[in-house]
Amino acid sequence: MTLEISKIRSDFQILDQIVNDEPLVYLDSAATTQKPRQVLDAIRAYYEHDNANVHRGVHTLAERATADYEASRDKVRAFINASSRKEVLFTRGTTTALNWVAKFAEQILQPEDEIVISIMEHHSNIIPWQQAAAKTGAILKFVYLKDGELDMVDLRDKVTNKTKFVSITHVSNVLGVINPVKEIAQIAHEHGAIMVVDGAQSTPHMTVDVQDLDCDFFALSGHKMAGPTGIGVLYGKEALLNQMNPIEFGGEMIDFVYEQSATWKELPWKFEAGTPNIAGSIGLGAAVDYLTEIGLDNIHQHEQDLLNYVMPKLREIEGLTIYGPEDNQRRGGVIAFNLDGLHPHDVATALDMEGVAVRAGHHCAQPLIDYLGLPATARASFYIYNTFADCDKLVEAIKLTKAFFGV
Ligand code: PMP
Repeated sequence: MTLEISKIRSDFQILDQIVNDEPLVYLDSAATTQKPRQVLDAIRAYYEHDNANVHRGVHTLAERATADYEASRDKVRAFINASSRKEVLFTRGTTTALNWVAKFAEQILQPEDEIVISIMEHHSNIIPWQQAAAKTGAILKFVYLKDGELDMVDLRDKVTNKTKFVSITHVSNVLGVINPVKEIAQIAHEHGAIMVVDGAQSTPHMTVDVQDLDCDFFALSGHKMAGPTGIGVLYGKEALLNQMNPIEFGGEMIDFVYEQSATWKELPWKFEAGTPNIAGSIGLGAAVDYLTEIGLDNIHQHEQDLLNYVMPKLREIEGLTIYGPEDNQRRGGVIAFNLDGLHPHDVATALDMEGVAVRAGHHCAQPLIDYLGLPATARASFYIYNTFADCDKLVEAIKLTKAFFGV
């Protein structure tokens, strides 16, 4: 095993509990990850020692709060290898970040222009584009799948000189598949389109280098990477952010305000109207430190180890269907599955009785679930604190569920 799991687990007190008379096995990290003590301590320390509003006060606490808030931005910049801190905007999460990009798209799109997304997108990377298309007369096109993965032939077909935006998830929260977003960015750019990456499911699990990917925008959520809820990031190339109008208006984002007009602060503050989520950004900074210390390549390898261990055991279970790519190397630590003859909600409820927390439903990806012809799926997802024993418990609990329902 690549990671020092017992040391890591000791940082996550929440995992040490009994659920339905069984030790908790938390396999729902694709929905949200647990937070280590280091993140909780950073948030507490901020509120106990430094709490003040940022950017406004000259007093010591305000200066400390501002320094911590901006230090988190620098940590995120380094984490995703943005070339400048001006390119790192704090948002509420991936959803807000993608909504901001789609608002920017409304500045650019003309009737008959095209937006290309994929059928495996999360609702947050579909609905903002539907709205932008409806407002501008642009056309929203979908790339479909082949063998549980993005069909790159279809993608090359759909991305044309009419395409103005391509927006694709780096890792699917249902299929688990890792998409070749670097290659897709190249294709988008060959046609003069702007490349947007939904990084909600990749940033927590693998090294992300936005310059290497050469994407124009990249969205992430703090709560999926051991950080708090209510904080995320929109990365955007500086030249594009300079063209982009602010989304929200008010305090903090202005330079001068006159009776009938106002001017904006420079990047990144032009986009951060109002009092931001200061504690959240500090918690995110602590999460970045925590993950960096473990090492993103090690985290990715750990999840590969878990997949290589559990997949053969799952595939042996009669009546169990797994969605997504066959090859584990093409997959992050996400396994969506169904058991013949059982609704996934019943499966998830039965697993919960064994202390195993998995998610069931459409996973905010209804078009994908429809495309696959399913009512829903169950989904197990891994993170740094999961063990081979957790994998064994999952397999055992699925077998017990089958026996209990007689399927
Ligand atoms: N995209 C993907 C692929 C996701 O998995 C999620 C969260 N389930 C989101 C976007 C939205 O993230 P958030 O709810 O944190 O805004």
